[in-house]
This record gives sequence, structure tokens and C-alpha cells, in this order.
Amino acid sequence: AKAEFDRRICYYERDMDEQARERRDMARDLWTAVENDGFHLAYQVQKSVATSEITGYEVLLRWNRPGYGEVSPADFIPVAEECGAINAIGVWVLKVACLEAASWPEPFKIAVNVSGLQLSQIELIATVRNTLLMSGLAPHRLELEVTETSIIGDKQRALHILRQIKALGVSIAIDDFGTGYSSLETLRAFPFDKIKLDRSFMSEVESNEQSKAIVRAILALGRSLSVPVLAEGVETSAQLDVLRKEGCTEAQGFLLGRPGAIDWSDRLELGMRA
Ligand code: C2E
Ligand code: CA
Ligand code: CA
Ligand code: CA
Repeated sequence: AKAEFDRRICYYERDMDEQARERRDMARDLWTAVENDGFHLAYQVQKSVATSEITGYEVLLRWNRPGYGEVSPADFIPVAEECGAINAIGVWVLKVACLEAASWPEPFKIAVNVSGLQLSQIELIATVRNTLLMSGLAPHRLELEVTETSIIGDKQRALHILRQIKALGVSIAIDDFGTGYSSLETLRAFPFDKIKLDRSFMSEVESNEQSKAIVRAILALGRSLSVPVLAEGVETSAQLDVLRKEGCTEAQGFLLGRPGAIDWSDRLELGMRA
């Protein structure tokens, strides 16, 4: 039994070493990407449920890691937070996104994700202000997406930072709503401009009455707070039908458009035909 125990501990330690080494390698590659322009951005459309009109685009960070290929931000953002690279990455994302949006032929909104580490630093206020000035983007066209968990650290400081940014005219959305353990508490603590209903609610909304009832309740909550709700992860027209019936404001998901480059020529043609 002792030998078995030792063997397991040994496996466990080797596993830990292995994971630590992988994180260290990834952190090194992330810093290299920061220095060598190794990231790019994908844009995913957001549309009005009632009219199908485009309301804006969410910016999603992409990293083609040399020797590995595309790595999901869900995998590398935590490492970037751990090694501090997230600050430089966050500044870069904001800058490129705002410059890009300022040059769009249509005044759509641009939604940028902000990590918890950024939300714990007072410099974020100046970064946002300077980026708006530098890019010339009107503040009301920028929306920051924050998750409930990113406000958990020093809550008072995070709320102070959000208030200051909102005072610039930038709007703030609560992302992945409904997945945390204190969504309602977070909603009460700050006047969010948009609720992004987490995509886990979409998967069963057509088939499961329980899921549909929860979605309906969150939409009612948004209405009574006068906060528009955007449903994430809409993949089927049946899901979109439910959202339309239940009065959801906006939707985003593979059905409406995959993240990627924006093809403006489609719109120009439409405009010319009109
Ligand atoms: P998120 O903010 O919830 O972003 C939405 C994610 O859902 C994106 O994954 C998007 O590709 C995916 N998605 C969109 N529509 C659908 C759908 O219909 N079905 C399914 N199954 N998925 C859909 P992605 O791009 O892999 O990003 C994952 C997460 O990484 C994001 O979740 C966000 O938390 C984080 N992230 C992405 N870009 C940034 C960034 O610039 N900064 C920070 N701090 N985090 C970022
Ligand atoms: Ca988001
Ligand atoms: Ca989300
Ligand atoms: Ca998420």
C-alpha cells in the first residue's frame, strides 16, 4: 500500500511538473506574440431579434501559436493573466478594435472583453480614455464586456473603475449572465447597460420547459430593470423563434454569423441595390 501510495504521489508530482512547464512555455510564447504582433482579432455579429438589423460586433482574440496552431482564448487568457501579459494584450486589443471600428463604413457598436485582472487596475480608465481619443471612436460606440467573476476580486475597486469608464460614455455589459453564483447580486451592484445571457441557456430552450421558463424569467428581469438582454450562442432558428416570442432584444451566435473578418462588400451591394 505504501508503494502504491508513493507511486501515485510520484505520478501526481510529475503531472504537476508537466503542467507547470506547459504553462511556462505558453507564457513565454505569449510574451513573444505580444512583442511580434502575433495576435489578430475576429469579429462576431450581434443583431436585433425583432428586426434582424446588425447592432454591433464582439471582438474575439485569436492567437496562432507557432508550432501549435490556433489556441482558444479560453485556454490562453488564464495563462496570460497569470504571467501578466494580459495587460499588454488588453491594451493591444482595445487599440486595434477601436481603430478598426472608427474606420467602419457603418457606426456599429464594438464590444470588447475585459479580464478580471484589467478590472483590478485603475490604469484601465486612462487606457480606455486615451484609446478613444487616439482612435477618434465615439465613446457610445464602445461597449466593454465584463463577467461576474471578473468583479469578484476587489469588488469596490472594480465597481469604481466601471463607474469611471461609464462616465466617459462607454457602455458596460455583463457577460455569461446566469452562470456565476451571485448573478443577481452583481446586477444589483452596478447599472449594466446590457445583460448577455450565457449560451448554456440556449442549448435546451426549445426542448425543455424548465430552461424556457428560466430564459423567460431573465428576459422579464431585464425588462423590469430596463436593461436589454442579448442571448449568446444562438445556433438554430428554433432558438431564435423562442427568443422572438419571449421578447429578447438581441442575439449572437453561429446562426447569425461566425466570428471572422467582416465582409463589407456584402453591405455595399445591399446599399447599392436599395
Ligand atoms: P465569450 O466572451 O463568452 O465569447 C463568446 C464565445 O462563444 C467565443 O469563443 C465565440 O466564438 C463562441 N461562440 C459564439 N457563438 C457561438 C455559438 O453559437 N455556439 C458556440 N458553441 N459558441 C459560440 P472564443 O472566441 O473561443 O472565446 C472564448 C472566451 O475567451 C470568450 O468567451 C472570452 O471570455 C475570452 N476572450 C476572447 N477574446 C478575449 C479578449 O480579447 N480579452 C479577454 N480578456 N478575453 C477574451
Ligand atoms: Ca464576451
Ligand atoms: Ca459570453
Ligand atoms: Ca465565456
